Amino acid sequence: MNNLKTMYQAVLPLEGKEKLLWRWLQSVFFVIGLGLFSLLIFFPEIGVIAFWDVLIPVAPLLFLLAAGCWRNICPLATVAMLPHHLHLSKRRRIPLKWNGRLALTSVILLFLIVPARHLLLNNDGMATAITLAFLGTLAFVGGLFFDVKSAWCASLCPVHPVEKLYGQKVAFTPPNAHCGACHNCVTPCPDSTPRMAEQKPTERNTQDIATTLLTGGLPGFIWGWFHVPDCRGAADWRECLVAFGLPWLTLAVTLTAFVLLRKFLPKSRETLMVSVFAAASISCYYWYRIPSLVGYGLFPQDGLLVDLTQTLPLWSIMAAQVAAVSFFGWWLVLRNPEPAVWAVRPPFLVKKK
Ligand code: SF4
Repeated sequence: MNNLKTMYQAVLPLEGKEKLLWRWLQSVFFVIGLGLFSLLIFFPEIGVIAFWDVLIPVAPLLFLLAAGCWRNICPLATVAMLPHHLHLSKRRRIPLKWNGRLALTSVILLFLIVPARHLLLNNDGMATAITLAFLGTLAFVGGLFFDVKSAWCASLCPVHPVEKLYGQKVAFTPPNAHCGACHNCVTPCPDSTPRMAEQKPTERNTQDIATTLLTGGLPGFIWGWFHVPDCRGAADWRECLVAFGLPWLTLAVTLTAFVLLRKFLPKSRETLMVSVFAAASISCYYWYRIPSLVGYGLFPQDGLLVDLTQTLPLWSIMAAQVAAVSFFGWWLVLRNPEPAVWAVRPPFLVKKK
C-alpha cells in the first residue's frame, strides 16, 4: 500500500521529454495501425496474418504485464482521443447508469465479434478492415461528444473488459499519456484504480452483469472458440450455428460454475476466484494459441503463422504450453504483489474562474 501512496503523492503532469516520447510512441503506433489497415485492404493475405496471427496473440500478454502501456499507445485509443487533443470534444459527462450499460455492451460486442472471426474475419482482410473502421468511427464519435476516455477506452471498447480481467497485477505503471490533466471523466477510473476487476460496481445491475458475464464466461468461451474451425468461403447456417453456438454454450458452462461458486463460497474468496478465472482464461488462450501459431493447432491451417511441424518436436510445444499455464497461474493466482494501477493518474484539472 505504501508504494501506491508514494506513487499518488508523486503525481506530476506529463511534460518535457517524457511527454514528447509518449507522443512520438503514439504517432509511431498510429502509423503502424494505419499500415496494418492498408495491408488488410490492399494485401489482405499478409494483412490478416499480421493482424490476427501477430498482433492479437501478443495482446493478452501485454494486458497482463503492462495494460497501461498498451492503453497509452493503442491506435484506436489515439483515434478516440483525437477530439480531446484537438479541443473538438463537447466534453459531456456520461450518466452513471449509462456507464453500466456501455460496459455490458462492450462485453456483448466482444462475444459477437470474436465468433465472427471463424466465419469471415480471420480470412478476409476487407471485412476485418471494415470492422476496424466501424470501431474507429464509434471511438472517434464517442470522443467528439464525451469527455476524455469515458465513451470509448473506459466504456465501449470491446477489448477493455479483457484488459480489466487480465491486467489485475500489472508489472509496469507508466504515466497516463493521454489524459494530460484528470477531468474525472469516469468513476472509478480504470487507468487509476488498482485491480479494476475486483472493484465494486458503481451501477449495480448492468455493471455487475457485465463483470460476471466476462469473468465467469470467458474461460469457456475461449475453449469453445478454439474448437471451431475457420470457414473458408461463404458460411451456411450450420457453420454460423456452430461458430456462435459452441463458444456461447461453453461460456454458459463456466459462467454457471462461476455464479454457483460465488454463491456458495465465502465472500472473502471472491478476489481469489476472479484471479483463478482470469488465469484460466489466459491459460486456455495460450494453451491453444501457441501450437496453432506453428502448425500444431487442432485445425492446422487456422491461425498458422509459420509451419514449424518439421522443425520443432511436439514435446517442445507441450513444454511451452505447460510453461505458459504455470506462469499465468503464478502471476495471477499465487503472487500477491502490492496493488498497482495501470497508469499514474495525472493531477486533477483545475478550472479557471
Ligand atoms: S485519469 Fe481522469 S481523465 Fe483520464 S481516464 Fe481516468 S478519470 Fe478520465
